[in-house]
Amino acid sequence: MNLHEYQGKEMLASFGVRIQRGIVATTPAEAVAAAKKLTEDTGTGWHVIKAQVHAGGRGKGGGVKLAKNLEQVEEIAGQIIGMNLVTPQTSAEGKKVHQVLIAEDVYYPGDNEPEEYYMSVLLNRATGRNMIMYSTEGGMDIETVAEETPHLIFTEEINPSTGLLPFQARKIAFNLGLSGTAFKEMTKFVASLYKAYVETDSSLFEINPVLKTSDDKIMAVDSKVTLDENALYRHKDLAALRDEREENAVEVEAKAVGLNYVDLDGNVGCMVNGAGLAMATMDLIKQAGGEPANFLDVGGTADAERVEIAFKLILKDPNVKAILVNIFGGIVRCDRVAQGIIDAYKNMGDITVPIIVRLQGTNADIAKELIDNSGLDVQSAIEFQEAADKVQAVLA
Ligand code: GDP
Ligand code: MN
Repeated sequence: MNLHEYQGKEMLASFGVRIQRGIVATTPAEAVAAAKKLTEDTGTGWHVIKAQVHAGGRGKGGGVKLAKNLEQVEEIAGQIIGMNLVTPQTSAEGKKVHQVLIAEDVYYPGDNEPEEYYMSVLLNRATGRNMIMYSTEGGMDIETVAEETPHLIFTEEINPSTGLLPFQARKIAFNLGLSGTAFKEMTKFVASLYKAYVETDSSLFEINPVLKTSDDKIMAVDSKVTLDENALYRHKDLAALRDEREENAVEVEAKAVGLNYVDLDGNVGCMVNGAGLAMATMDLIKQAGGEPANFLDVGGTADAERVEIAFKLILKDPNVKAILVNIFGGIVRCDRVAQGIIDAYKNMGDITVPIIVRLQGTNADIAKELIDNSGLDVQSAIEFQEAADKVQAVLA
């Protein structure tokens, strides 16, 4: 689960990470009130207005702008709130902006050389350890840095039995070329950031840029926080920060009924039991010349009710031209699944796309007979290749 920038920053601040102060607003009037409050608290006259959507690259898309007075705050907030923000990380339609963060300008006027760094905390899957990845090249896409100047990206791996050690935080500050106050600030920043990562059960922190101000403060100017969904049960406060408007509507609906659904761009919907078989099925669809429209793992219980819910979810996608059901009947019997599909199909009554059902395992032959004798626009298959050929035929 992802947090908005402002939510991530508030969480980080609660662990002692220095952040750029800010207040979230949903209307231009609220934005002006927020800017006034920030001026009282921090003395800043300039404010940065930042679209709050779950996507990076907002600066490039016109979602981050500097306001030098309250009129500009009102004007810019009015432009950004309600816009469809298109960034390199969104689809072509962009993401609707519901709220903006009004933040103090920390790139102090007259400060022509603000230093921007990159820092992330993530799991190194190869070693099974957390690591801190950092670079002197902040403020730009880390992918570009990795491609053009890979020697400017450093990593520091953390031993889980000791946690982050003080010398590691110092090494990071040293490699970033810091000294004096900024060096000390950075070691504190790194230690607080890592503590926050571990204690919130996060799976990714990305702070780009980390800023060194002209008076040697180190602070997070941006935040991307991804929490581990499986650990949310022990972070009720963080779980409450979920913003479903940012998530795919069908995925949210699927989650609510306990189905594992991921929306994709293709034209063949699929319904499968087991994540591994679902992956293999998506490969099969590609081989047959189609593109998977979704990933859907219906799990062990493929009864009529569940199959019907799954069909409904898949058919919400207007790009779906065919549906491939691929179920392995190990614990669940194929004939029961077949009956479930037939019942769901009849019950819905409005399915217009062809359905190919491959049932393999216990009672697969009985299942095939049931489907073949149902009189519905459902084709059966037992072998994987047979199913692929039938998908190919309906797409042709
Ligand atoms: P992103 O584009 O979605 O990654 O959003 P960021 O929060 O990283 O902001 C984009 C860029 O806006 C940063 O790289 C900064 O250069 C700039 N920016 C952010 N905060 C401030 C600020 O307080 N003052 C000024 N002048 N620029 C800022
Ligand atoms: Mn950023």
